[in-house]
Amino acid sequence: MTAEHVILARRVRLRGAVQGVGFRPYVYQQAVKFGISGWVENTTQGVSLQAQGAAEAVDQFLVALRAAPAPAQIAEMLVEETEPSGAVGFVIRASAEEGARLAQILPDLALCEDCLRELFDPADRRYLYPFINCTRCGPRYSIVEDVPYDRARTSMRHFPMCEACRAEYENPFDRRFHAEPNACPKCGPSVALWDGQGALLSRRHEAILGAAEAIRAGKIVAVKGIGGFHLVADARNAEAVALLRARKRRPEKPFAVMFPSFAQLERACVVDETERALLESPARPIVLVRRKSSEIAANVAPGNPWLGAFLPYAPLHHLLLHELDFPVVATSGNLSDEPIVIDETEALTRLAPIADLFLVHDRPIVRPLDDSVMRVAAGRELMLRRARGFAPEPIAIANIPPAILALGGHMKTTVALTLDGAVLQSQHIGDMETVEARAAHERAVADLTGLRATAPRLVAHDLHPDYATTRLAARTGLPSFAVQHHVAHIAAAMAENAVAPPLLGVAWDGTGYGLDGTIWGGEFLRLGAHGAERVAHLRTFRLPGGEAAAREPRRSALALLYEAFGKTDDAWLYFTEPERVTIAHMLRNNINAPETSSMGRLFDGFAALCGLRQVASYEGQAAAEFEWAADGFEARAAYEFPLRDGVLDWQPALEALLEDRRRGAAAGEISAAFHAGLAKAIAAVAREIGEKRVVLTGGCFQNKRLLESAIAELRLAGHEAIWHRRAPPNDGAIALGQAVWAGWHAGDEPCA
Ligand code: ZN
Ligand code: ZN
Ligand code: FE
Repeated sequence: MTAEHVILARRVRLRGAVQGVGFRPYVYQQAVKFGISGWVENTTQGVSLQAQGAAEAVDQFLVALRAAPAPAQIAEMLVEETEPSGAVGFVIRASAEEGARLAQILPDLALCEDCLRELFDPADRRYLYPFINCTRCGPRYSIVEDVPYDRARTSMRHFPMCEACRAEYENPFDRRFHAEPNACPKCGPSVALWDGQGALLSRRHEAILGAAEAIRAGKIVAVKGIGGFHLVADARNAEAVALLRARKRRPEKPFAVMFPSFAQLERACVVDETERALLESPARPIVLVRRKSSEIAANVAPGNPWLGAFLPYAPLHHLLLHELDFPVVATSGNLSDEPIVIDETEALTRLAPIADLFLVHDRPIVRPLDDSVMRVAAGRELMLRRARGFAPEPIAIANIPPAILALGGHMKTTVALTLDGAVLQSQHIGDMETVEARAAHERAVADLTGLRATAPRLVAHDLHPDYATTRLAARTGLPSFAVQHHVAHIAAAMAENAVAPPLLGVAWDGTGYGLDGTIWGGEFLRLGAHGAERVAHLRTFRLPGGEAAAREPRRSALALLYEAFGKTDDAWLYFTEPERVTIAHMLRNNINAPETSSMGRLFDGFAALCGLRQVASYEGQAAAEFEWAADGFEARAAYEFPLRDGVLDWQPALEALLEDRRRGAAAGEISAAFHAGLAKAIAAVAREIGEKRVVLTGGCFQNKRLLESAIAELRLAGHEAIWHRRAPPNDGAIALGQAVWAGWHAGDEPCA
């Protein structure tokens, strides 16, 4: 063998997003291009391959691998020398047996650029076809019925491929090689337009044109998308939006708006580079961006300086929005806070009171996936609702034992399952208040355990004895492990940031069952190697009416005044006389007035005392409005929150608020001083406790101003701030936290 014909062989192991994204065909094409022989296969870890050929060719091949096009993403590439074999040619091997059930199931991906071009190319055989996709885009998790991921185990099994589609599917040089949802107008799903009773009005492109015409005329159309139905209305038409609000029984909670293009989105909102990257990412989440004055109707997001904006992701959205050429409200197809509707028969009953028309299709949606919601805070992404485009991506966690099932909390529920060295989280399910939500929760559990063929050996759940999820844990008959709510919040943030104890966890939210049986929510917990210890908390007060207080910020306000001064009356608050008498009675006699250290309720109380909100129409409204009020206000002062014997006292801040109100200060000025004071208080507690690392978590840290000022104060004082990114700070991450905390500590004590 002469020098120029030295044959090298290399074994390569790749990790990252390398499965279900057309990576193996890409490897195959590059191997053919450079004359490489060997094989490639999916493994439990990612992709493994062997490449042999002339030295220079192998080098070029490896360079090409690193440059694999999106959505493939190489996180790690290990190259080892190995012995050349006699193999000729290059083959894509069937997935390794034991790997089949462990291989990562991908989230749904937005339509790619190539498919978008074909969609609007009159010469293409998929011109205007709403189910066009390829290996780089299209539905994934929303159509998977079982694993391994191939067409026969997706809801595309109802559509046998035509000859042309099959030829693409079987050709390793084609963009649609093993694109499992591959389809065309001849063989694939199709759309139809129904009236409110389900009678067929039109089919195919006519149906899309008909839906567009109705939306233009101010009607509400239920549109079946990727993870469920949207309710769609003209976002410029205040009357149409008001009609949608009335029918959906959602008086004020902001609606998300889908824009036909980024250019149109940018005309209505201020968008920075990070926000743009999120908006255009394959996950296509709703991103909260700053509103400008625009044609968007004010009642889309009343009084809100932010707008939940997003871009079309399904080809059907592209076709509809292209036809309309104006932004539309696209909100989850449900009534109030029920889970999203995914099935057209179900839509006809549950959405009939809301929608005038139904734009449906015959590709079944296997599981509901709401749109994910994110914002940019402290210069990076922050998840607020994790569903389509992200579920069921696992989070890698070193040394986590497998087969722990976590059932989540009560609000914004998700479920989670540990694997060997990772945690799998379900999509957002919703509040466990309705029969529909509890059924969706049950299906999510079956999904996670079924798709991974994992029989749970331990169930993690909340400490609250009355949560539906806690009772469900008992019914499984498995050993169970209760995780305190705020410990779960902190554990979730630790897990996704890969940090270990010791650290100080700041967990601030509306409500969570405490270790002492009271309602916690303004917590400072020190986490050490052996567990969690409550080192400080917000001064407690009594909430007249318990949970009812969350819907009536004025009750929290009165509770603060009563606790501080024994007052049961205040000129700033609005109560009818009978209401005031009842609530005063509850406070004085301690009837149905549970004690709480809730930071969420403190925000509510301050918002009410500023005259911003007496009664809320959706969760977190008063706190959000209090945050928005501070827009444009520099914090000239910071309210004092002194720490005494582990109790963070709000009374000096309350007195300052009342004084500021008396001298006629704006709500925004008060809010700015309140936020600044809390941020300083966090740094002061961190100094007192003496932990370098501080985790910021809980629903209160969805508040951009609070999060950013707390990070700044902590850094100023030499602390390291740790906060969320891909797992929400709110209760959407409780299941994740329960799973990892149980994984770390279930062995510490006998299971309950
Ligand atoms: Zn594509
Ligand atoms: Zn076809
Ligand atoms: Fe919480």
